[in-house]
Amino acid sequence: MKFDHLHPADQICQIMKRIYDRKETTVSGGNLSIRDSEGHIWVSPSGGDKGNLQHDDVLEILPDGTVIGTKPASLETPIHQAILAARQDIKAVLHAHSPAAVALSIVHETPQTMLYPALANIAGKSALAVYGAPGSDTLAANVAKVFKEGCDVAILENHGLFIGSTRSMKHAFEVFDAIDFGIRTQLNTPVLCGHEPSLIREAQLKEYNERAQVPVMGTFAPDGVGNEEQLQREMMAMLCKRACQKEIFSATGGVISARVDGNSFLITPQGLDHAYADPDDMVLIQNGKCEEGKVPQFYAELFQKIYDKNPGIGGIVAANPPYAMCYAVSETDYDITLIPESYNILMSTKKFPFGSTFTKQDEIAEYLAVNRPVAIVENECYIIASPAVFKSFDRFEITEYSAKSVNMTIRGQKKIVNITEEQMKELSVRVKDRQKKLAEAERSRMESKIHKK
Ligand SMILES: [Zn+2]
Repeated sequence: MKFDHLHPADQICQIMKRIYDRKETTVSGGNLSIRDSEGHIWVSPSGGDKGNLQHDDVLEILPDGTVIGTKPASLETPIHQAILAARQDIKAVLHAHSPAAVALSIVHETPQTMLYPALANIAGKSALAVYGAPGSDTLAANVAKVFKEGCDVAILENHGLFIGSTRSMKHAFEVFDAIDFGIRTQLNTPVLCGHEPSLIREAQLKEYNERAQVPVMGTFAPDGVGNEEQLQREMMAMLCKRACQKEIFSATGGVISARVDGNSFLITPQGLDHAYADPDDMVLIQNGKCEEGKVPQFYAELFQKIYDKNPGIGGIVAANPPYAMCYAVSETDYDITLIPESYNILMSTKKFPFGSTFTKQDEIAEYLAVNRPVAIVENECYIIASPAVFKSFDRFEITEYSAKSVNMTIRGQKKIVNITEEQMKELSVRVKDRQKKLAEAERSRMESKIHKK
């Protein structure tokens, strides 16, 4: 589905539902507008159920100011109009009171966008808009001033945030979602790690972006789709949506990959909005060549090395989940000794310096193994590998959920009691026993299969 081809009113209904479902606005606290190609402005209504807006609820404002609609326009419509008047290049405006945006707005701070490239590259410039009462001309002027000065994001003092997109409503949401993830990392790093997050510098980002290009590889025309490939495509599309729902991926942030066989693997394409992932979106890399007509994530080169080095690895996920990322923007180590699940399933983590996804590909491929599944790349991402892609996703959830638990204990001013050396030893013995039993069961299953033949 081409989202941008939907009617503006339908785009507003869909994105508003998405924001509400993502707990990034209250029922009353968000509004959206789109300027169409004829200069008409479409805007969400005042009040109503933001989780269930209907096409006819959306108002149309003609260039002469006439308002067409069945419901009253949002109280904040004048701010949307002021932004669109100040910046003729802006096509869509998003406003929300997400907990993260409000947290920044009540301390009068702007988002730290230089936490990691996936955020820095989408976030745009932001500034504070001076407080004004909702519905007042003062507030509309204060917000428009920020956009007039060239920013695409305004944090409104003691209110929420406005984002303007020069592309589309869908893009405005993608920016919003990425920024919301970033703010959570920004505000939780001091809680989890005891200090402000470390930021990348402009020069580092520039160098990173010069390298983060689609790998140069030949193309091939696929000759049909085998059953295993189809299964993996379906699994990846399902996991993309799940990762979005579970706040492991932002709308466009994150990479999923699954091995198909010894010579080929699938990877998500560049720019995919994970909530709309489809099995056919996935890009097949076979014998070092890319399925024609598709653009893989630039991680394809690194993942190829990981698969080549580790025949036991069948799936890889890379992402910036907001709580776990605190450890990637800090020198504090991620602690796996919390519960048997985190100890047994995450097993081992290792940090690599910023830029390692290009400069230390061989080292990352060398490190990652079935029993060393988690690589943390500073100020970039977590890379988690497993025998199957579903398992990598499971490990991502464990990684993020454990970081959330630590966050809760620190906020509650409690002291963590880690599992002891002795308990860890016992867990390791139990895991080995279980693995042995599973391997024996598998062997006897295979043998009985052969005998039946
Ligand atoms: Zn508001």
